[in-house]
Amino acid sequence: MPAFPLPPGSTIGILGGGQLGRMLALAAARLGFDTAIYDAKPRTPAGRVSALEVTGAWDDRAALERFAAACDVVTLEFENVPVGAVEILTSLGAEVAPGARALAVAQDRVEEKTFLNGHGCPTVEFEPVDDLDGLRRALDRLGAPALLKTRREGYDGKGQVWVRDAAEADAGWTAVGRRPAILEARAVFVRELSVIAARGRDGAVVSYPLGENRHEAGVLRVTRAPAIVSDHTRTAAEAIARKVLEGLDYVGVVGVELFELEGGRLLVNEIAPRVHNTGHWTQDGCLCHQFEQAVRAVAGWPLGPATAVAEVEMTNLLGPEVERWRELATDPSIRLHLYNKGDARPGRKMAHANRVLRTLP
Ligand code: AMP
Repeated sequence: MPAFPLPPGSTIGILGGGQLGRMLALAAARLGFDTAIYDAKPRTPAGRVSALEVTGAWDDRAALERFAAACDVVTLEFENVPVGAVEILTSLGAEVAPGARALAVAQDRVEEKTFLNGHGCPTVEFEPVDDLDGLRRALDRLGAPALLKTRREGYDGKGQVWVRDAAEADAGWTAVGRRPAILEARAVFVRELSVIAARGRDGAVVSYPLGENRHEAGVLRVTRAPAIVSDHTRTAAEAIARKVLEGLDYVGVVGVELFELEGGRLLVNEIAPRVHNTGHWTQDGCLCHQFEQAVRAVAGWPLGPATAVAEVEMTNLLGPEVERWRELATDPSIRLHLYNKGDARPGRKMAHANRVLRTLP
């Protein structure tokens, strides 16, 4: 176990080399740390701004060994890192935060909802589905329409399909690849909110003001924050975040996606064991943004203030929309964050623009 707080000059390892890793690396650099990136591909967005990039598969023991030897602590930016890779790193003496349990819970939608309900965090009703008969039984109990999702490896609305009535069961089961799945009752929500929160090595917890999120085709499009919510909703969201963090004995930043129902009741949609797209507004809206917060937490520093200083509208630039950088760069209310990803495939998250709507008193 390294001695915490880690001093500047230490190396923070990051599993995954995407834009979240890049922004973590930039935040780490500001606090005087080096970063090392582990990814299957070379020249990743995060690797381009890090001292070291190790390229290897998630089961490449020799590559993981080289990575572990370079790092004082390891965190992750990608929730589908196989738990086995984290276990190998841990067996090599690496300190990984958040750890294997948080990953295992977040990677499987049935485990996740079971964990949440067991810790007093309400979700939609759900049924695990292992075959077509099971899907029919689940539809009987939950009613239609209901959302069929793969248990694992779904993100940004991928691997999920609405089943509108029992006659669609077969087609739905085929659409998710006839793989272990979960059937979720439909959440009749008025809006989608999220809370980003952090827990330090000393057990301290901070929560950011809530974000209000708009998705299109399952992909986050816009977050506006701080969201206008009742005190009751804010307190309930913070209580949920705390239960998640404490229930997983978590160190780092977590993103908790919420459905707000009529009357203000909250259901948890899912948790992400990492910095989160709906927390990007904090870069230009809070004293200490989510990326610095994650670095502080894993490095064993005291957490920073999650206080909002501006109201921000964050918009994801997907695929060729990144070409708008030239026009957006002329707008003084916009702070641009570009990820330096080569290929602007349609729908790919290439950049985001934080529009500062007003500073807060
Ligand atoms: P997910 O990949 O689980 O985050 O789902 C992507 C989006 O699908 C969410 O942000 C919601 O807009 C919608 N969604 C997911 N689960 C449900 C549900 N049980 N009921 C209604 N809408 C849902």
